[in-house]
Amino acid sequence: MAACIFCKIIKGDIPSMKLFESDKTLAFLDIMPLSKGHSLIIPKHHGAKLTDIPDDQLAEVLAVTKKIAAAVGAENYNILQNNGRLAHQEVDHVHFHMIPKPNESEGLG
Ligand code: 5GP
Ligand code: ZN
Repeated sequence: MAACIFCKIIKGDIPSMKLFESDKTLAFLDIMPLSKGHSLIIPKHHGAKLTDIPDDQLAEVLAVTKKIAAAVGAENYNILQNNGRLAHQEVDHVHFHMIPKPNESEGLG
């Protein structure tokens, strides 16, 4: 979708710190991290809400989310997936946040 910021990231029109890419899925660092390693994992299929994404794509996104958590060394983390403005969704392209919860001594979160 031309106007979608995450579709532009998928196309490479907007730069990002990519962590993983397949034909169906992309993972990259959040531009405003809530903690070190805060990542976004998205299906390449454009859809605003979870119900817009085919099951096979969602399954891969979740599998990649798990691997990204391990790859950034997150032992404690939250997965967040917002749907709709009232639920604080700002970008209308389905995305899963993987937000590491560092030890207090590690700061930022
Ligand atoms: P939402 O509130 O929609 O669940 O979260 C959207 C997330 O996308 C936010 O955490 C925000 O920092 C991130 N974000 C928005 N624009 C960009 C961008 O251009 N690049 C990256 N890497 N992250 C973005
Ligand atoms: Zn999109």
